[in-house]
Amino acid sequence: STTINQIAAGEIVVGPQNALKELIENAIDAAATRIDVITKDGGVKLLQVTDNGSGIAPDDLKLLCRRWCTSKIDTHDDLRTLTSFGFRGEALASISHVSHVTVITKLRSEPAASRAKYELGEISEQALQAGNTGTQITVQDLFFNTPQRLRALNKADCHTKCVDVVSRYGIHNDSVEFSFRRQNDSSMLFTLKGSKRDRIRVVYGSRVSGSLVEVEDDTDNADESVISTLSNIGLSRAPELLISNPNYSNTKSTFIIFINNRLVSCEPIRKALVAVYSRYLPTKAFPFVYLSLFIDPENLDVNVHPTKQEVRFLHQAEIVDFLSNLVDDTLSKIDE
Ligand code: ADP
Ligand code: MG
Repeated sequence: STTINQIAAGEIVVGPQNALKELIENAIDAAATRIDVITKDGGVKLLQVTDNGSGIAPDDLKLLCRRWCTSKIDTHDDLRTLTSFGFRGEALASISHVSHVTVITKLRSEPAASRAKYELGEISEQALQAGNTGTQITVQDLFFNTPQRLRALNKADCHTKCVDVVSRYGIHNDSVEFSFRRQNDSSMLFTLKGSKRDRIRVVYGSRVSGSLVEVEDDTDNADESVISTLSNIGLSRAPELLISNPNYSNTKSTFIIFINNRLVSCEPIRKALVAVYSRYLPTKAFPFVYLSLFIDPENLDVNVHPTKQEVRFLHQAEIVDFLSNLVDDTLSKIDE
């Protein structure tokens, strides 16, 4: 029923930032190399994500916003990823139950683009029009049909959270160029391209980017013991870590944590790393940490919460220890 769908949607889409995260993930899954984001009123009035990825076949548009319609499971292997990422084919369905969704998309092989509109999960319009290869998804009037949820949103707060999502995905995906601007605002808020460090400078400033230290990634010449340590604790490769020099100080810490290319929050990792920093500082530590971890999908549970933000995984204590030691090693060398 509509009510059930709206309740489910409200759990996945708490605010524009959750919808934005899903749209960006889809663009990345579609192998986009450029993603342009436009928002209005913190993403509440308008959220538009344009990518130059694969596009969507015209025949797939009809069911695009139906629950559990996904193009991402077709082999047995993918079923493992399905259980770990969960909620396959839920995002667009959820978004379309609490907003007006318009999709313009073109496969490279098609002569023209298709435009489709959706209401409550169902397609309401489909037509051909001119367009480039890739996909543009426009989400308008989020929570238009759930006024109490709309009232609970603070636009300035939503804007900050949207900036955060684009920044973080933009830093993590350093082979994708990102731009972010507000509608009716001719100036870009930012464009992100080049290295992770360049992108971090654009978002967080040169004081942060200049203080960054790369934690040694020695997978290439790792001996067998390192590799077996990684696999014993369920890590499929060495983590990537960019951390601030302890001499860098700020008034708040920043943690950017990706697990299997999905932005997550992980309080145990955050706490442990702050504790490591505290050993090097007389005062309270506010580090900047970018971490990309790859955990065997069968060890990862993202279904703790429908927004998939909070994750749980096997060998958590060992992984947290392993990361703490890595950071401690690196910081102890800087200190010398
Ligand atoms: P999921 O990503 O879990 O499959 P979604 O609801 O996020 O579910 O998306 C549903 C489907 O729509 C995807 O499986 C994909 O086939 C298609 N899709 C959505 N966004 C894009 C995009 N930007 N480019 C190409 N295909 C897309
Ligand atoms: Mg998706």
